[in-house]
Amino acid sequence: MRVLLVEDDDRLASALTTALARHGHQVARAGLAVDALRLAGGVDFVLLDLGLPDMDGLEVLRRLRRVSAVPVIVVTARTEEREVLRGLRSGADDYLVKPFRTVELMARMEAVMRRGTRPMPTRDHVVSVGDVRIDLEARQVTVSGEQVTLTRREFDVLALLAREPGVVRSREEILDEVWGDPLLSASRSLDVHVAGLRSKTGRPHLVETLRGTGYRLGSTPLAGA
Ligand code: CA
Repeated sequence: MRVLLVEDDDRLASALTTALARHGHQVARAGLAVDALRLAGGVDFVLLDLGLPDMDGLEVLRRLRRVSAVPVIVVTARTEEREVLRGLRSGADDYLVKPFRTVELMARMEAVMRRGTRPMPTRDHVVSVGDVRIDLEARQVTVSGEQVTLTRREFDVLALLAREPGVVRSREEILDEVWGDPLLSASRSLDVHVAGLRSKTGRPHLVETLRGTGYRLGSTPLAGA
């Protein structure tokens, strides 16, 4: 496989490159986030260190996930549950905590590849559900051609679901992406925002609730007001 190794530590990068090459992989290395984002389009697998000099690794992951479904294993020195959770919520397929053994890395990479690829995020700027039109670029929503005014966060919640139609997003994932805190689970904010989306659009099924699991963009025909 073509593997992109995103790691700013030269010694670790060199050791990993050798190990990956020994297992038959072609390795491209990026020491900076900006190079990682540029190179990620041409590889089959990404190993992403979270502590990078120019950008937080989780932000790299979020940006990458907007355009790519490439398998990603996050490599981190952080052991906090919150950080690991955020990595997985941001689209990592697995994670490894430094220091780790090469054999463990190879096993995790194989396991991720066996699981298969995730659905591609939408490349379209406009997502339509029934008569609801969501313009992700212009941040505008119309219902039957009429513009609906949403708050910034209401739109962010809707856009998160619209980017991958059919994919269920957990409460934690939405709270992490939109509020920046996955463990804000006790908050009623999300319920209030989902209720706002439903009432402002007059399309109660635009956002489906999957009890105990999360939310997804409505796939059933949308009922009128
Ligand atoms: Ca680092």
